[in-house]
Amino acid sequence: MGLFKQIAADSHEQVVFWLDRVANLKAIIAIHDTTLGPAIGGVRLLHYDSEAEAISDALLLSKAMTYKASAVGVNFGGGQGVIMAPDGEIDGDALWWSFGRFINSLGGRFIGGEDIGTSVEDIEKARRETKYVVGISHALGGGGDPGPITAHGVYSGIRACVEKVFGDTSMSDIKVAVQGLGRVGYALARELKAAGCKVYGCDIDAELSESARSTLGIEIVSPERIFEIEADIFSPCALGGIINEETISKVNCKIIAGAANNQLSDNSLSETIQKRGIIYAPDFIIGAGGLINVCNEIEGYNQARALAQAGKIYDKIKSIIEISEEKDITTYEAAMVMARQRLDRVKRLRGLV
Ligand code: NAD
Repeated sequence: MGLFKQIAADSHEQVVFWLDRVANLKAIIAIHDTTLGPAIGGVRLLHYDSEAEAISDALLLSKAMTYKASAVGVNFGGGQGVIMAPDGEIDGDALWWSFGRFINSLGGRFIGGEDIGTSVEDIEKARRETKYVVGISHALGGGGDPGPITAHGVYSGIRACVEKVFGDTSMSDIKVAVQGLGRVGYALARELKAAGCKVYGCDIDAELSESARSTLGIEIVSPERIFEIEADIFSPCALGGIINEETISKVNCKIIAGAANNQLSDNSLSETIQKRGIIYAPDFIIGAGGLINVCNEIEGYNQARALAQAGKIYDKIKSIIEISEEKDITTYEAAMVMARQRLDRVKRLRGLV
């Protein structure tokens, strides 16, 4: 497919290329939709086999961000930055200086943050040339580690699922199996424990497991057993793709609700989950606390406000469950309906259609 056809296929607004021979930088920024506000998105640095692959990644991820931002209720559009990692050693200083100029050249239409292959330090380097970056450290006025905010969003989404299954939001004695005790998983386990839940946890990192056991008093199980634990909730907070044809048959719970991005190996699995009578909280909504956190940086970071906004994920998941029941569709499809409805409404309001 020709490039312009590819850009038009999903109605992307703009795709921009940047070549800097001095910095050895080849980069792309894709802006999918700015109906709700400037496009926000991660900047990933990866080895791509071809330019076509890098373009496809930028197009796909920027579109996903439009729907995520819309469904979650933040006033930003969808964008994505992609840096094609050069062969050999990378001069990070020059690369990020140059990428900062690239972002700045778009005059605020794109706001970038860290993603796969990039770090807070990289983004802070780009900040020398542009103010249109987010996800920076507290020391520079940013939100710092979004883990606890993301965890609070997941906890809030879990409460909506619990209310659906048990009739109220009391978390006392609810059993939760948390897979992954890293930045999000640990903070989630802490919040669940404080609310009176019985928490099982696992991590492939034995030190993290031991630290969670001794500081939080949660029960540690092996990473292999976590799927099979008889719990009310299974909360994936480790890697993507962990719910697949094989693991779904092992899961022994009433609710699947966790932060891990792209936790279903295929979105169609949300149908299998639903047929098994399990409520699935779509990952791109329940894990949106990180997005909410960086959006807050733009107006001047305030942690209490970010936490309160992440708490509203309760309402989002509740609405998604309702839409799914009303329309007899999966919760994943319901989340997409919610995202499209808001986008279409604002498009009409702003006279963009
Ligand atoms: P992290 O790297 O801090 O923690 C992930 C943990 O999972 C690590 O401790 C790792 O050892 C463990 N792990 C990996 N494979 C495992 C396995 N098979 N079984 C058990 N444990 C395993 O990452 P994080 O920031 O806590 O993010 C967790 C997930 O949530 C990721 O998928 C991430 O993309 C997603 N997410 C994170 C945020 C955020 O704010 N950090 C926001 C949205 C989504």
